[in-house]
Amino acid sequence: MSTRMLKFVSTEQERPVKRSAEDRSDDFHEIYREFIEAKAEEQSGRCSQCGVPFCQEHCPLGNNIPDWLMLTANGRLEEAYQVSSATNNMPEICGRICPQDRLCEGSCTTEQSGHGAITIGAVEKYITDTAWENGWIKPITPPRERAQSVGIIGAGPGGLAAAEQLRRKGYKVTVYDRYDRVGGLLVYGIPGFKLEKEVVQRRADYLEASGVEFVLNCNVGEDISFQDLRAKHSSVLIATGVYKAKSLNAPGAGAEGVYPALEYLTTSNKQNLGDAVPDYDSGKLNAKGKKVVVIGGGDTAMDCVRTAIRQGASSVTCLYRRNRENMPGSQREVANAEEEGVTFEWLAAPRAVIDNGGKASAVRAVRMRLGLPDASGRQAPEEVPGSDFDIEADMVIQALGFDPEDLPILFNENQLTVNRWGAVRVDYSTMMTSMDGVFAVGDIVRGASLVVWAVKEGRDAAESIHEYLLACATDRPVAAE
Ligand SMILES: Cc1cc2nc3c(=O)[nH]c(=O)nc-3n(C[C@H](O)[C@H](O)[C@H](O)COP(=O)(O)OP(=O)(O)OC[C@H]3O[C@@H](n4cnc5c(N)ncnc54)[C@H](O)[C@@H]3O)c2cc1C
Ligand code: SF4
Repeated sequence: MSTRMLKFVSTEQERPVKRSAEDRSDDFHEIYREFIEAKAEEQSGRCSQCGVPFCQEHCPLGNNIPDWLMLTANGRLEEAYQVSSATNNMPEICGRICPQDRLCEGSCTTEQSGHGAITIGAVEKYITDTAWENGWIKPITPPRERAQSVGIIGAGPGGLAAAEQLRRKGYKVTVYDRYDRVGGLLVYGIPGFKLEKEVVQRRADYLEASGVEFVLNCNVGEDISFQDLRAKHSSVLIATGVYKAKSLNAPGAGAEGVYPALEYLTTSNKQNLGDAVPDYDSGKLNAKGKKVVVIGGGDTAMDCVRTAIRQGASSVTCLYRRNRENMPGSQREVANAEEEGVTFEWLAAPRAVIDNGGKASAVRAVRMRLGLPDASGRQAPEEVPGSDFDIEADMVIQALGFDPEDLPILFNENQLTVNRWGAVRVDYSTMMTSMDGVFAVGDIVRGASLVVWAVKEGRDAAESIHEYLLACATDRPVAAE
């Protein structure tokens, strides 16, 4: 093993420099700076090269982390990139936005031994950003072209990962999306301060240069029927994500000034991309000068509170019914939000929106305490009697999660089986749905989840589609051009 490794005792954990809260809280640029080469090498050298790498086990993609850390520590960055990209179609994106504290870094042995995790995400991002800068990432030229084609519905991370893998095997790939840009929630959900949009566009351009065809502004089920898509392609992959917002069921929730989180975030992302956004310009979905209350404790809620800060809200409060330790969002994001001036009301649940002449003026909340564990093992929150209180609010954002749209209805396809929440049922060993040759991946299968899981399932489905098409191939591969 290289003598550059196992430095976790003598070298402190260091993350890339984070911009100060004052510096970052009025723009939408990413908040972490890039490692310089020497730092990436030094931090990679802290890895203890465990015999059983728990980081790898807890990465949904099974990334070969110890190997690319070792290569980076030894300045062999191009090889590090080859190893890292062998299991991940968007390492620079996962490096930026995976909740590493819950995945690879959370189970890193040096973290468990009290020395602080290896900064895996930051190194992963550094390796691939360097690969892009140095031109090591070249468009795909498949060893041979195949006559069969795959239609993918949804240009989010699940659809894109599958598109890349299938293109590598030589299939013709067409990706349909109802949005006008490629990326799904990477573009229109996740704000720029976590993931700058040029990073996503670079991936889209790479796929296009590799021969993947994108058909944008195309809502499958409306602009083209699902049945036509099936007739047109040898196989179809559904990667449509989940977009039906769960809404607040409380008096006053219909008042003006109460909005779903994704509508708010999409407006902000479009505005930052330079699009004309009347709802932002009119002030409707712009938090400037407003008292904002965000309801929810997940990643979406964190993105909303931090967006409101950047838009110049006069106050931003996050209301969450459990405590800090039990929130679903990343602890790192909560710390970032606190630094930027967000107030958290833990153990508080909304009772009503105070409707003042049709407009929201406050949220009435009640204090909660954690009771006995429920069926899932989590302590159920219960109200503290007589503890109501009001928080002034002229903008209330509901970040309460998402449900799948009714795909059998949208696609006019009663053969497509969904579970009782509306998620598409698949056989997890193949990712095939109840319909022959139709596969599904990502949030539409597992419910609102993570980018890294969508990528993993996109890769798995591509492998299964390949096997499926080989098995039922009536055509032979045609010669590469
Ligand atoms: C605000 C927010 C913040 C998040 N932050 C993080 C984070 O920090 N880290 C993380 O790992 N995950 C995060 N997530 C979750 C992550 O974005 C999703 O898990 C991931 O994007 C799911 O990928 P997907 O490909 O399944 O779906 P999506 O990314 O949702 O893509 C689905 C695509 O399908 C298209 N589509 C849908 N229906 C049709 C149709 N009928 N016809 C044509 N196209 C259609 C949509 O337009 C969309 O482009 C966040 C989610 C949100 C909402
Ligand atoms: S993909 Fe995510 S979980 Fe896996 S190594 Fe990278 S940052 Fe960690």
